[in-house]
Amino acid sequence: MGTNDIISLYDKYVIPNYTRNPVVLVKGKGVHIWDSNGKCYLDLFSGWAVSGLGHCHSAVSKAIQAQAKTLVHAPNIFYTEPQGRLAQLISENSFGGQCFFCNSGAEANEAAIKLVRIHYSSQGKYKIITMLDSFHGRTLATVTATAQPKYHKGFSPLVEGFTYVPFNDLAAVEKAIDEKTGGIMIEPIQGEGGVNVASQEYLKGLRKLCDKNGILLILDEVQTGMGRTGKFFAYQHYGIEPDILTLAKALGNGTAVGAMEAKKEIAKSLVPGSHASTFGGNPLACSAAIAVFETIQKEALLERAAKLGDYAMERLKALAVEFDIIHEVRGIGLMIGIELKTNASDIVKRCMESGLLLNCTHDNVIRFYPPLIATREHIDHGIATLRKVLT
Ligand SMILES: *Cc1c(COP(=O)(O)O)cnc(C)c1O
Repeated sequence: MGTNDIISLYDKYVIPNYTRNPVVLVKGKGVHIWDSNGKCYLDLFSGWAVSGLGHCHSAVSKAIQAQAKTLVHAPNIFYTEPQGRLAQLISENSFGGQCFFCNSGAEANEAAIKLVRIHYSSQGKYKIITMLDSFHGRTLATVTATAQPKYHKGFSPLVEGFTYVPFNDLAAVEKAIDEKTGGIMIEPIQGEGGVNVASQEYLKGLRKLCDKNGILLILDEVQTGMGRTGKFFAYQHYGIEPDILTLAKALGNGTAVGAMEAKKEIAKSLVPGSHASTFGGNPLACSAAIAVFETIQKEALLERAAKLGDYAMERLKALAVEFDIIHEVRGIGLMIGIELKTNASDIVKRCMESGLLLNCTHDNVIRFYPPLIATREHIDHGIATLRKVLT
């Protein structure tokens, strides 16, 4: 099919709830992705940090192929090895909790919200505090948790029980806690909100507040997790542990898989019948995610992300000195935001036309999320293109 034929299929048959570029993508390999006209793009956005290992990593593709020939789906009233092994990998590389599997970030957060409620149901502690400019998903509960009015428009009445406070403001959280509060939900680095990094004192302070008040700390690492920041999980930069952790995006490197991990004594509140997902933890998705973990370990990609992130940060900070239009460059590892003094969408579009994929969020922040397998040459090439566009 030709490019225009495919686009007209969407015009006729696909609900227009996205603003799409007039580009049809057909294949990807490593750091590159191709469109239907044969144009090659350097992908330094990784599809919202989903393609952490780049496109079609051979280990992941092989795992999917092998599992596809063996067993694709099994109902959750039985056991499968991939789900058990993936839970072990998540647990052993984090804080030793237990996992519930689903298919997206929103579902992982939805599960976390439900776990807080059921865990404290006898005490009536159902309220969850979330941060301004957060992003937790698009289901009704998670979009309510998302403290950005633009995502709420047209969907009221929203779900009860969420309180919003400014990000990186510990005193505001302390003030917001009352006898009905059951948890605090936060991204260690806000992704959609503009790559805003939680300070050390703040995240450590939240942990203390949770302990002091007997409430749960939920870290949404749907975007920050799986090595993006140079550690498996961003919280590992802070010397604290959450009670509940949520994952999705890069977990399956493009295969739909989400997970919620909770400390054992909290997890046990999710008794049989209380929560479920038909596709959650299916062998195909779990096999892909196992391959992601194994590849990160085998190829030492955490160290690589940390080093490459330092390099990219240094180069981008130099660019900020050169271009007055850049307000600030910030982030950890390969999760980098370039805040401009103007709207960034036009620049991102011009980069795309020049063969470089980046993303604009929060109007004026360019997201620079290379895959963990990228090289310095890829970073240099991407920054050179951005530089040309800025000039
Ligand atoms: C993308 C994202 C979500 C939602 O994930 P979906 O898979 O789109 O439901 C939740 N939280 C954060 C931090 C995200 O970046």
